[in-house]
Amino acid sequence: MQAADLSWTGMVYDICIVGAGLWGSSAARHASLPGRKVCLIGPSEPQEKDRPSRDIFASHYDVSRTVRKYQGSDHIRSLMTMRAYKGLQELERTTGIQLNAAVGHIMYGKDIESITVPIAKEEGVLLTAEGVRERYPYLDTSRYGDTAMLLPVDAGHANPRMIVRAQQEAAALRGCDIIDDVVQSVEESGNHTHGEPLMRVVIEKGRPLLAKKVLLCTGAFTQLKNLLPPSTKLDFGIDGTFTVRLEVGEDDLEKISSMPTMTSFTDPESNCYMLPPIKYPDGKYYVKLGPGYQDQRRLTSLKEVKDWFLSKPDPKLVEKYRDLLLSIVKGFNPMSVKTDMCVCSRTPTGLPYCDMVSSKVGLAIGGNGFGAMLSDEVGRMAAEMIAGGENWNRDIPREMLKAQFITPPSNL
Ligand SMILES: Cc1cc2nc3c(=O)[nH]c(=O)nc-3n(C[C@H](O)[C@H](O)[C@H](O)COP(=O)(O)OP(=O)(O)OC[C@H]3O[C@@H](n4cnc5c(N)ncnc54)[C@H](O)[C@@H]3O)c2cc1C
Repeated sequence: MQAADLSWTGMVYDICIVGAGLWGSSAARHASLPGRKVCLIGPSEPQEKDRPSRDIFASHYDVSRTVRKYQGSDHIRSLMTMRAYKGLQELERTTGIQLNAAVGHIMYGKDIESITVPIAKEEGVLLTAEGVRERYPYLDTSRYGDTAMLLPVDAGHANPRMIVRAQQEAAALRGCDIIDDVVQSVEESGNHTHGEPLMRVVIEKGRPLLAKKVLLCTGAFTQLKNLLPPSTKLDFGIDGTFTVRLEVGEDDLEKISSMPTMTSFTDPESNCYMLPPIKYPDGKYYVKLGPGYQDQRRLTSLKEVKDWFLSKPDPKLVEKYRDLLLSIVKGFNPMSVKTDMCVCSRTPTGLPYCDMVSSKVGLAIGGNGFGAMLSDEVGRMAAEMIAGGENWNRDIPREMLKAQFITPPSNL
């Protein structure tokens, strides 16, 4: 039976964005235009003592992520990072919040030239392992391959917590309501406004909200609450992963402070990314590394994800990655070793899903380990898509960003 048009007169958002992480916060800023009522809903980062009582976490609870103008190994990702990098620079300028440290980036390993996409090559400097050592005397990448591509400018690391803060501050200044809560479900409300059906967004702590359109930017957690149309199942994976941080003492800090960010393209067991000494909230400096695609665990339920965030990595893996870093950063004596747990969302395409799953609900998910450096641009694309924009994808074929399903929504 068709619900009556109540011409709803209560508060209705034009766009409700679920997920106040890197992508949702960017989408909130880009969507918040004059004459449009937008809200962004998501839980703020839990304090240590509150973690056991939480079930929704995020992939950005850290102070450093590698970011660069050209991602480097994939053309489409590089088109998006090219725009996202510019967006981050603009965000820095407009908010006055420092986000980015352009320390340079090195891709190292076997036959790096063949892996690097043409637009990144234009800015890169092809080096041998010896050439890396000439520039950075404490770095020895030779055992992992004899080639490297140095991206000397517009590459380095940014603080994801600060990016989220800056995006949200900018969104709030444009009138976006930011709501600190978890969404339990998104459903058709049965209410209409001027003939247009409204979605109901049920939150944990407050009264349900009504919105004309809902954009899900819920990262790895997208299928863990009732956010998608009934019985929809995305082809989408959640990989439990971790980082290892090695504390840098004063003497070493002086020696290795010029270190760039690094990613390897070598044998699958040794693939990793590394970040230079960065100050953490405890006031100490750490170099950080994490696995490429290996040594991760596929997680499938809310309980598994929660347990992962509350656990510690296998000590043998911590040792493996500590040794890996020490095999490259020569003469470094870590003062202590710390670890952090995280999750990566994976799509079979390796690209984000930015797509509508019904006429009222869209999504932007699937960082595939690159979500920080893509964030400003994916947020922009998703904001324009959910608002009904024509050219949101610019020169990137929409087909490449289409969500893939195990069970598609019945209305598609
Ligand atoms: C260890 C690690 C290292 C990484 N390193 C890099 C790197 O160097 N460079 C890089 O570019 N990328 C990196 N990434 C990837 C990057 O951090 C992620 O791709 C990025 O955080 C994805 O952004 P997102 O907004 O999609 O997800 P998130 O940042 O996780 O945000 C999703 C948000 O949705 C919220 N949410 C979920 N469910 C609900 C709900 N039901 N109701 C309300 N809110 C909800 C969450 O609380 C969260 O805040 C790394 C990831 C990990 C785990």
